[in-house]
Amino acid sequence: MLNLRFDNRYLNELPGDPEAGPRRRQVHGACWSRVRPTPVAAPRLLAHAPEVAALLDIPDADVATQEFAEVFAGNRLLPGMDPYAACYGGHQFGNWAGQLGDGRAINLGEVVNRAGQRWELQLKGAGPTPYARRADGRAVLRSSIREFLCSEAMHHLGVPTTRALSLVATGEEVLRDMFYDGNPRYEPGAVVCRVAPSFIRFGNFEILASRGDTALLGRLVDFTLARDFPEIAVEFAGDAQQRRARWFAEVCERTARMVAHWMRVGFVHGVMNTDNMSILGLTIDYGPYGWVDDYDPDWTPNTTDAEGRRYRYGHQPQVAHWNLSCLAGALAALFPTPEPLEQGLERYIEVYTTEYGAMAAAKFGLGRLEKDDAGLLAEAFELLQRAQVDMTGFFRGLAEVDIEAPSLAPLREAFYSAEPMHRYAPAFENWLTRYAERLRREGVPQPERRARMNAANPRFVLRNYLAQEAIDLAEQGDPGRILELLDVMRRPYDAQPGRERYAERRPDWARHRAGCSMLSCSS
Ligand code: AMP
Ligand code: MG
Repeated sequence: MLNLRFDNRYLNELPGDPEAGPRRRQVHGACWSRVRPTPVAAPRLLAHAPEVAALLDIPDADVATQEFAEVFAGNRLLPGMDPYAACYGGHQFGNWAGQLGDGRAINLGEVVNRAGQRWELQLKGAGPTPYARRADGRAVLRSSIREFLCSEAMHHLGVPTTRALSLVATGEEVLRDMFYDGNPRYEPGAVVCRVAPSFIRFGNFEILASRGDTALLGRLVDFTLARDFPEIAVEFAGDAQQRRARWFAEVCERTARMVAHWMRVGFVHGVMNTDNMSILGLTIDYGPYGWVDDYDPDWTPNTTDAEGRRYRYGHQPQVAHWNLSCLAGALAALFPTPEPLEQGLERYIEVYTTEYGAMAAAKFGLGRLEKDDAGLLAEAFELLQRAQVDMTGFFRGLAEVDIEAPSLAPLREAFYSAEPMHRYAPAFENWLTRYAERLRREGVPQPERRARMNAANPRFVLRNYLAQEAIDLAEQGDPGRILELLDVMRRPYDAQPGRERYAERRPDWARHRAGCSMLSCSS
């Protein structure tokens, strides 16, 4: 019998919508609406993350029960669960979109584990809420597999992220027009249980500011501070202005660290709307995300973004800053002068620059960046792009280059085709010579350099085609590959002999296949 202790502070300390249930509506003067998950026909657990179950003190024996599948499909509530959808707004693709809210995500409550940590449970795809607008509140299996796997892969890569406890098939079909081309089809449905200390987004603040509800905006900020940033709440207990200023700077700093990690591992979020930005600086809302295969700063995995490429890989640091500016704009009414907010945004730039610099140095095996290094690194990235080189494969190969006798040999596997490899070989060799000189000047022993690089450069990332293979198999009734990938992604920096297949560059068949190179928001 599942036994979790709940303490639902978001619900108990912030005002809610007086109406319960899923009737679609605009919700004013409230941070949440009570709504129950809509039960599904035949819940079946396809996968779970044991590490996340452990965070919640859920024993293995309980995971194996039908009760577990029912609870995490939304068919059954445990004592202490009090389900609600949060009200938030957001800027989508650069434009204010008004009220959005949890349209298909339903929070079950806040678990307090034996260690005293607070973990909020949220079902995605659990049925419509007041914020569902015209949509069905459901999620398809393919996008649920992607969210489940990527949340955990990111965690094991050391990237701040929401977690995923479970992936449950619903036994129901969901109608989706994957390409928005007028050809909808039925697909299997699923529910993922996401887990995070908080699911508050920039958009929770923006919606209140957009409605001029400064009093509730202040309450939400103070609630967030007290629950999710207790160190700051305590340190600046006597001064509300300083407390809020320090908090905003902290949000900026955490966001900067998160995006620096994305850039390090080659992750492209794909929909960096402000409703998809966590106030804790966690990667949230895994939709049409992607992983850079052949290095290209202009690549976006999201077909909806193909035109403007707002959310392309190389633009993410700027977009995060823009999103923080939206948050600052929303918070402005709480500050007598704009300086603290401006200083917070400045912190974003400082922290991003420092963090990314340190990560870039580690990727190339340098102890620290010197002033001439920027050019050397920029040249490498330029070459990677021109010669169509796999980003992940390149950095793992680079660690194997012998700096006493540098050659292209350890990098060959990372090239996508022979012609550009031959054309750019002299340029690469020239670069490698200068790179090796630079490393010799630093005098770090080869094994130490390799260890440093292999700790910053994953061997295994959840390449889009790998996730798609797992999806294809699962749709045919075999969820085994999901578990296999989950296990591979558990140790992304280790060599894992025998699992070379999962470290290979994207195969040619996947180059233009849906789900592998292009993804839509239809999920
Ligand atoms: P996203 O692009 O996934 O961040 O979603 C943007 C907004 O649309 C959020 O308010 C979601 O809750 C809502 N939404 C997306 N898909 C659905 C769906 N199938 N049913 C209800 N709401 C949805
Ligand atoms: Mg979203």
